[in-house]
Amino acid sequence: MRTVEEEQAIRHDVFRWLDAAFIGRGGYEISRTELLSYSFLGERIPLLDTGRGIRNPATFRSTLSIMSGWKKNRYQDFEDENGWIEYSYRDQEAGDNLKLKRAYELRAPLVYFRAVREGYYFPYYPIVIAENDRVERKVRFPLDQGLGLLGDPHGYSDDQRRYADSVVRTRLHQPLFRARVLRAYASACTICDLKHPELLDAAHIIADTESHGVPHVTNGLAMCKIHHAAYDRSLLGITADYEVRIDRDLLDEIDGPMLRHGLQDMHGRRIRVPTNRNARPARELLAERFAQFIDR
Ligand SMILES: [Zn+2]
Repeated sequence: MRTVEEEQAIRHDVFRWLDAAFIGRGGYEISRTELLSYSFLGERIPLLDTGRGIRNPATFRSTLSIMSGWKKNRYQDFEDENGWIEYSYRDQEAGDNLKLKRAYELRAPLVYFRAVREGYYFPYYPIVIAENDRVERKVRFPLDQGLGLLGDPHGYSDDQRRYADSVVRTRLHQPLFRARVLRAYASACTICDLKHPELLDAAHIIADTESHGVPHVTNGLAMCKIHHAAYDRSLLGITADYEVRIDRDLLDEIDGPMLRHGLQDMHGRRIRVPTNRNARPARELLAERFAQFIDR
């Protein structure tokens, strides 16, 4: 067994590593292979356990990570619409369950790897297990610590409900949406082809605050930050035939290279769409959004 301090140091190093190798670089999914390659001071410590939904290193007192299964219920996790995850104890795996319960008792921060597709994950950390139900044999934790502070979702006031909904949108729906959209567009801006994930967003065609602004790839476009902002403010529009239009007034302006090359030159260009037909932007959604651009 490692010392408590060493175990804690490794957990924090894992968070640092994920910050640097993934979140900080605008990552949208991380592969199983990468997660198996993590090492601490030269010692390899895989962050996943092949074939299991839980990672309990032999030298750790408590669980280091939990992962969701890509195929439904392949592992024992269940995600509700309030941003809470339920993870059931493993059948007849006394050691795993013991370490899971200990993670709850010690409030040990861990990582939850949520599958975005087979073999690829979006990491949530630090996760702290909030409840341990010995009768139902499962634990519960929120994907965001802010949700944990709100308490029981059934008892939310209107303000708490609004806050929780916005957290769920950004923490639960947005990362999956971004992963699907950026992958569909091969990590390139649909307008200008910029290929830097750290400068790319998954833009909604119909905003996610609208009831039909669903986080589905056909309601999404991979866009660099500047084109996303221009699209959101209707300085740039996209027709149902995938053609870019720049706002009339903006076309007449005279300014530096960003305006000229970054925006004006995009007028009349065709956007680059995913090779997979099912992932292409829905024309009726583009048309609806384009009407707002025209009306501006
Ligand atoms: Zn762009």
